Amino acid sequence: MLRVTLRTKHQPQRRNFCFAKVINFLPARYQNVCSGSVTAFGYTRVFTPNKKDMQVSENLIELYSNQQTLFGRGSIDQLIPLLAANTQPTLLFCGRSFLNGPAWARLGAALNDQIIGYEIVSHEASPDEIDGWVRRWRGHVDRVVAIGGGSVLDAAKAFSAMMQHPLNTARYLEKVGDTPVQAVTLPLIAIPTTAGTGSEATQNAVVTDQQHIQVKASLRHPVFVPQVAILDPDLLKGAPNSVLASCAIDAFTHLFEAYLSRKGNLFTQQTALNGLRLFFKAWPDLNRDNERGDAAREAMMMASWLGGVCLSTAGLGVIHGIAGELGAIKPFHHGEVCGRLLFPFLDVLAETEHAEQQRLMAQLGQQLLPDDPAPPALALKAWIKQQAIVPFWLDGPTLSATDVDWIVSRANSKNGWISYDAPTLTEMIAAAWRIV
Ligand SMILES: [Zn+2]
Repeated sequence: MLRVTLRTKHQPQRRNFCFAKVINFLPARYQNVCSGSVTAFGYTRVFTPNKKDMQVSENLIELYSNQQTLFGRGSIDQLIPLLAANTQPTLLFCGRSFLNGPAWARLGAALNDQIIGYEIVSHEASPDEIDGWVRRWRGHVDRVVAIGGGSVLDAAKAFSAMMQHPLNTARYLEKVGDTPVQAVTLPLIAIPTTAGTGSEATQNAVVTDQQHIQVKASLRHPVFVPQVAILDPDLLKGAPNSVLASCAIDAFTHLFEAYLSRKGNLFTQQTALNGLRLFFKAWPDLNRDNERGDAAREAMMMASWLGGVCLSTAGLGVIHGIAGELGAIKPFHHGEVCGRLLFPFLDVLAETEHAEQQRLMAQLGQQLLPDDPAPPALALKAWIKQQAIVPFWLDGPTLSATDVDWIVSRANSKNGWISYDAPTLTEMIAAAWRIV
């Protein structure tokens, strides 16, 4: 699945290819023995499904991904031949840390020959910034390369799309816009230098405006999935522990929330489980400067990409329902926000009486922590904290009671099985940050 090469000279470059459509075609009598019609499985330590437990997915899902995905240590070296094979006016988006790193020292001169200019991205882009870039480059750029963390990839994705749209960015944004996006964008080559957001595999570009309209919202369309992703785990080397951990816990949250989504089915759940197993392999060793570290960074890069595929397909849950609103008013690191909210959410899950949540958590516990006698949600919470390379959930910034009310009044539970009420959301936030 990882080496997905669906490139074709006859396919218009600005279209992405839907490579899997899973359709449930079985007769109704074989379908659905799930929520409502089955008693809770409880937290059985060994989950052995019998005939009654076997389920057939009700949801139809559509999976979109890159046309071409390159994966492996040193794969960034393929960028130059890829660009040279089809010369076009190309703009580079990157973070400043990339320009100071070893990959730029090695590739910079050759890359300079292939691009007409670059834009530096230092934070989550606002609608105004994207409009400024579009005004500067419209009519001069036919292809975009993005090398950086989630903010860089999202900025480049938004720019690529808006270059082909006539109105300002805010008009097309979910939540606040009034105009649907069109199925057009510039071809984008996305090269993540962090393993977390999975933006290289998703349909949406997150745009944030904390100044004027206080909104964090997406431009979203299947054709916005980057045409090419280059996943080189060595690009993670040397990142600070706090960045490695905060990004990785974002990847975990994408996989976990997509796994628990009511929009999911067997396809997305098994894909998410695959990513979660990789996360478990990688989480304790992300910062090691040895072979174990190399293996961990490779596993996390893959987990992050799978997280992007899963969230694009099955959607997310209450953690991102809160994080999206909090991010509209506070410049906190998105991954750390999700990680902090994950722990109180696991406490909520440990108490769940929802049959499908119980079934999914029992399955997850059996897959990831089969020897732990604790309820899966609590076992998961303890393992993540024990094995973390840095305790990112300690100390940190504070929120005011007014901030909390603002967030809770706008937050929702996205695609979770339960729509959590305001007191539960407030409790989760108060467990994640000190309220002053
Ligand atoms: Zn996220």
